[in-house]
Amino acid sequence: MIIECDVLVVGAGPAGSSAAFFSKFLDADNKRKICLLERLDNRKYLHYHEMCGEGVSEDLFRDISPIKPSYIVEKIKKVREYWPRDIEIETTMNGYIIDRPRFLNGIVNQYVKLGGKHIQNSLVDFAEKEREIKVKLCDGEFLKTKYLIAADGANSSIRKKLGIKGRVKPLIQYVVDEEPEHDTMIFEYDEKWEGDYKWVFPHGETTKVGFPFLKHRDREKIERKILVKQTRIVGFGGIGNNVHGNILLVGDAACHSNPITKGGIRPGMVSGKMAAEAINIDNPLEYDEKWKRSDFSSPLFLQAFNRLKDMDNRELAWHMKPFRKGFSFFSTIKSLLFYRKYLEIYKAYDLSNKVGW
Ligand SMILES: Cc1cc2nc3c(=O)[nH]c(=O)nc-3n(C[C@H](O)[C@H](O)[C@H](O)COP(=O)(O)OP(=O)(O)OC[C@H]3O[C@@H](n4cnc5c(N)ncnc54)[C@H](O)[C@@H]3O)c2cc1C
Repeated sequence: MIIECDVLVVGAGPAGSSAAFFSKFLDADNKRKICLLERLDNRKYLHYHEMCGEGVSEDLFRDISPIKPSYIVEKIKKVREYWPRDIEIETTMNGYIIDRPRFLNGIVNQYVKLGGKHIQNSLVDFAEKEREIKVKLCDGEFLKTKYLIAADGANSSIRKKLGIKGRVKPLIQYVVDEEPEHDTMIFEYDEKWEGDYKWVFPHGETTKVGFPFLKHRDREKIERKILVKQTRIVGFGGIGNNVHGNILLVGDAACHSNPITKGGIRPGMVSGKMAAEAINIDNPLEYDEKWKRSDFSSPLFLQAFNRLKDMDNRELAWHMKPFRKGFSFFSTIKSLLFYRKYLEIYKAYDLSNKVGW
């Protein structure tokens, strides 16, 4: 038997659960048949979605209203950055560490209550013909849909089948047996992270420590007892066109994680919502246009990441000097001229304060 639906969302991560929820939420007359496909069973799903710092800003919930924060593990009030040469910067942040798998499950449950269908199965292939998409599942069953939302993560088989290349990066994270500094997200910058950083996030009684996995680097020493080791990839920096016929790519499948923060929950959930809105008015290209107009896809982020990647510790420290306490930008003409070359990076930092998490 072939299941038929109007919208098929593949993947129930942040992007897919948001896309599925808003597809049903906007379908006021409950006329559209929406299916959400997730390949992992409950246990594996929990394991997969725990592999995350689980940090989000409060602004996320303004973007995805009426979805509310739930399963909050920590309330975040500040961010502390350590840069080379003892530069320390502390700023305020309103955010949360959430229990991500349970938070996502809650959204999927709301979607099901609104009349959506949740199927545990895996997409293995698909073909688009005259605006109808036929999807093959791993048990040999087929599914037909008018619209396909690809929310299948950074390794997206849908993106690959469409022949679209994406920038991906493996991240490694350790859950360590250490009482964290509650309410604070800590970032440590160093040339060895090649444009990225090491993060230390609170998580209840434990601390999550993570950094990019770089094969040519020595193993980073973890001083505390390691409880769990996690590795997963993120997709960042965008893919050009997010819509191909009636296929809409969202979240990490479309490499939507922010290039400098690598935060991907908020862009994923926002792009999932935008895709649902565009489908609701039968105009998938509206999603692509809206995403490209948004700050989330600003080219400043990738440009800044590419410059940071090439900086050594001396320059990393130097370019952060204007943000140090007591620094007077206007003290010398020389400093004005020198820091001008970092203007685009500073603009990216400013924008990432707005949409980076
Ligand atoms: C170690 C680490 C820490 C991170 N920390 C943070 C953080 O603190 N804050 C933040 O904002 N971001 C963080 N990120 C980034 C964030 O996790 C990702 O950007 C986000 O998960 C992307 O969401 P997504 O829904 O697009 O994809 P995913 O979360 O990868 O979800 C994809 C879903 O699709 C399913 N799927 C895949 N293929 C198929 C298929 N063929 N059929 C059916 N289902 C399929 C998968 O099982 C999965 O459930 C972190 C990433 C890593 C790796």
